[in-house]
Amino acid sequence: MGSRDVPSIQAAVPSVDRVLRLTAVRSLIETHGRPVATEAVRAVLDDVRRRLSAEGEAARPLSTQKAIAARVLATIEERSAPSLRPVFNLTGTVLHTNLGRAVLPPEAIKAMVAVAGGPSNLEFDLDAGRRGERDDHVEDFVLRLTGAEAACVVNNNAAAVLLTLNTLALRKEVAVSRGELIEIGGSFRMPDIMARAGSRLREVGTTNRTHAKDYAAAVGSRTALFMKVHTSNYIVGGFSTAVPVGELAALARDHGVALVVDLGSGTLIDLDRYGLPHEPTVAETLAQGADLVTFSCDKLLGGPQAGIIAGRADLVARIRRNPMKRAMRLDKMTIAALAQVLRLHTDPDRLAERLPTLRHLSRPAEEIEAQARRLMPILAGCLAETATVDVSPCQSQIGSGSLPVERLPSAALVIRPVTGKRGSGAALKRIVRALRGLPVPVIGRMHDGACILDLRCLEDEAAFADQLVHLRPA
Ligand SMILES: *Cc1c(COP(=O)(O)O)cnc(C)c1O
Repeated sequence: MGSRDVPSIQAAVPSVDRVLRLTAVRSLIETHGRPVATEAVRAVLDDVRRRLSAEGEAARPLSTQKAIAARVLATIEERSAPSLRPVFNLTGTVLHTNLGRAVLPPEAIKAMVAVAGGPSNLEFDLDAGRRGERDDHVEDFVLRLTGAEAACVVNNNAAAVLLTLNTLALRKEVAVSRGELIEIGGSFRMPDIMARAGSRLREVGTTNRTHAKDYAAAVGSRTALFMKVHTSNYIVGGFSTAVPVGELAALARDHGVALVVDLGSGTLIDLDRYGLPHEPTVAETLAQGADLVTFSCDKLLGGPQAGIIAGRADLVARIRRNPMKRAMRLDKMTIAALAQVLRLHTDPDRLAERLPTLRHLSRPAEEIEAQARRLMPILAGCLAETATVDVSPCQSQIGSGSLPVERLPSAALVIRPVTGKRGSGAALKRIVRALRGLPVPVIGRMHDGACILDLRCLEDEAAFADQLVHLRPA
């Protein structure tokens, strides 16, 4: 093949118009529209010309009409695939913020779909025939489940904290223990949120020990609140002390200030009954005397992303009147989902079956191990000579700053590359990338030269197993 042939091969490349008239491509125009199809055809033809001039005759098979049509189809499919899509969370972190936290139960999904495609009574009182409140669709459930006098909902717990501080402590002081000035994943830092809310942070006590007298000494004419923050992603251990909610509530009352507790995860039910470690519940915290409690809905609550502020009716009423509430209000689909998740909580006996988060958290290690044993030969077969697969016990974590030190015994598929001995990570990286490249990407974690797939959160075993064939080395 001589390079003088290239111009003649180039000349054989069909024009954009001709490709657009091919039967196969015409149906793509029907489905995706002309601009998308044209753009894809141009991209493919540019690439074909580039390859022809670089590789000459060897690239000729790429320039046939059939090959071009196939690549146009592949290009369009790739470009029109949604950026946000489902994955398998086999990281061993049940509430993984980067993987979307809580997985919704079917009841919640059904409710979202029911209101998504048409008008709804989002802010319309059907009994009275006049304007209603969007929070009304969830408030009664919250009151019933927490014993609060009133509640309002916003976009997440960060918004709940921000709105509460901005309403109740604008240009006023908020006393917080130095042991509770938390950072949650980078951008949520209590001192920064306080500043943005327009409140002045008054640090009390020390990192490891804060006493009631420290709060008492901090009270002045500008003090609006005592705030207690649940140290949800770390623990202060050793020589340490913190003032319990009940005692702090009494002290707050004595000084005429309100006590706000940011519970973080905030569960509505006692997790002990599901064999999980205790996490303070919202009802408990309110019963101990907190005036307001704020908490997330997509952590242990197992619902959609939202935040709830629950407690004293007069304080909630002031929060509702804050114009900033409008900027943080929930969307109808989230309200629909949240109402169903709260409804499921009214039947704690069946909650562990019906709420995916709780189902995953309470799944027995033996059941996970049995699943791993079923999947091991399938995965090993698909990885063929490239890696070995073993079943090994492992430890899952709850995640999202919930019960940070607790670990749940679980089981994993452990993939070790055959060629890449310890230290050579290239083979392992290839395997991890191949797992991420599956039709439903599989996300595990790397540890000690191996890829660990913790199966705690794997529900659709068949879907997982069926797509493993795509791992087979070509
Ligand atoms: C998670 C958490 C937050 C932030 O909640 P989001 O719902 O993620 O906004 C705030 N405070 C505490 C203590 C938390 O654990």
